[in-house]
This record gives sequence, structure tokens and C-alpha cells, in this order.
Amino acid sequence: MLEITALSHTYPDGHVAIRGMDLAVGDGELVSVVGPSGCGKSTLLRCIAGLIPPSGGQVLLDGDPVRGVPDGLAVVFQDYSRSLFPWLTVRDNVALPLRRRGMSKADRRAAATEALESVGLADAGRKYPWQLSGGMQQRVSIARALAYKPTLLLMDEPFGSVDAQTREDLEDLVLQVHRAEKMTILLVTHDIDESVYVGDRVVVLGPSPTGVLADVPVALPSV
Ligand code: ADP
Ligand code: ADP
Repeated sequence: MLEITALSHTYPDGHVAIRGMDLAVGDGELVSVVGPSGCGKSTLLRCIAGLIPPSGGQVLLDGDPVRGVPDGLAVVFQDYSRSLFPWLTVRDNVALPLRRRGMSKADRRAAATEALESVGLADAGRKYPWQLSGGMQQRVSIARALAYKPTLLLMDEPFGSVDAQTREDLEDLVLQVHRAEKMTILLVTHDIDESVYVGDRVVVLGPSPTGVLADVPVALPSV
């Protein structure tokens, strides 16, 4: 599904964030990308999402170079504070992308309500994002991405702002949705324990801009 070869990215200020990275992700894989802060994890996701162009190498999605944001892609950004529309209710934020799925208004609302329930926010649908805590806003972003049922889901430190118990629940939710929907998921984290718990495979990045240090399959007893 995803084939990254000799990927490099240099920011306009000359900062080299990624140099010569190779990574292949198969259909339906759940891959964690782990590494220290500043190693290029967010930059990698931005290149895959088509938000920034590679300075070198290429990102192929189902054999085609990524140009612009691909259809069937959902991203959970690390910066949840800028990812929800403040003038829409929480439920409408979650329901909005479903228009691209051609769903009726009633179906969109039902799907949004269900997704909000799954992240433990059944009662927040009528509120506005700015009425919620940071951790709750992050959960709304996760609900929106999961409701969309993307073929490729990119998550950048998606649980960074939630408390420990909620974090465990959300990790399990991602595993459950992954199994049910067979979506391909790349989860970026700096937490090695989380990367091993959630990922079927853990890709370890070294200090920027070295690229992939290790690429390890995780064999866990199925739950
Ligand atoms: P990570 O997500 O692993 O913390 P990033 O991809 O955010 O790493 O950043 C990789 C490197 O690129 C870091 O050294 C960071 O300071 C730099 N960087 C990130 N964004 C920009 C930017 N917009 N302009 C210049 N340098 C950047
Ligand atoms: P992360 O490491 O988790 O990617 P950062 O705290 O490094 O996040 O970066 C937060 C924001 O600042 C990002 O949008 C990133 O692109 C930007 N940024 C990071 N480093 C630089 C830099 N050296 N110059 C300009 N922007 C940067």
C-alpha cells in the first residue's frame, strides 16, 4: 500500500529533517513509528499525507506518487487545538468528513454519535470544541478519523494529552477498530511501551536525519 524510498525532506529554512528513509507498509498493517523528539516523525507523516512535498525520493501510495492529500486518508494531528472547527458542534465536526462518503445527514449524525460514544464522549456532541478540555478535543479528533473509516490512518502522538486510563482505553479502541475495519494504520509515538503494545510492527527512527534504525515485528498473543 505504502512504499517510501530514499525519502528526504529539507524545510525551507534549510533544516534537514529526513534523509534517505526507506519504509514499506503493507495493506492492513498497524505500524508504530517511535523515536526521540525531533527525529522526523511528524515530517514523515506530513510527507505521506501529501501536506509537504518530499525534497528527494518518493512516497508511493498503491503505486502512485502522493500529490496533495489522498482520498481515503485520515490524519489525527498532534496539535488537536487547531484541528477542529470552532463554529461547529462536536458532533458536526465528526460528521462533516462523512459527506465525502456520500452518507445522508441522518446516517452521518448516527455515525458521529456512535464514534463519540466509542471514545467516551457520548454526552459532548452538542457542545463546541472550545468548551472541552484538550484531552477531550483530542478524543473528538480521534472519533472523527475513526468514523471516516479511512483506508490509511495516520496518527501523530494521538494520545499525548489524555490521562493514563483514557489512553489505555483509546489504545485498545485503535486495536479493535484496526481488527474490525482492516485499515492500514501508522501511529507515531515517542513512547516505546505504547509502540510495542499497539503496533504489529515497530519502526524505530534514530536522531534526525539518519532514518530507520530498526524495523521489528511484534509477536503478541492474540487477545
Ligand atoms: P518529531 O515529530 O520526531 O518530533 P519533526 O518531524 O517534528 O520531529 O521534526 C524533525 C526535525 O525537523 C526537527 O529537528 C525539527 O526541529 C525540524 N522541523 C520540524 N518542523 C520544521 C519546520 N516547519 N521548519 C524547520 N524545521 C522544522
Ligand atoms: P513534534 O516534535 O512533536 O513534531 P515540535 O514541538 O517539534 O513537534 O514542533 C511543533 C511545531 O513547530 C510543528 O508544527 C513543527 O513543524 C514546528 N517546528 C519544529 N521545529 C521547527 C523549526 N526548527 N523551525 C520552524 N518550525 C519548527
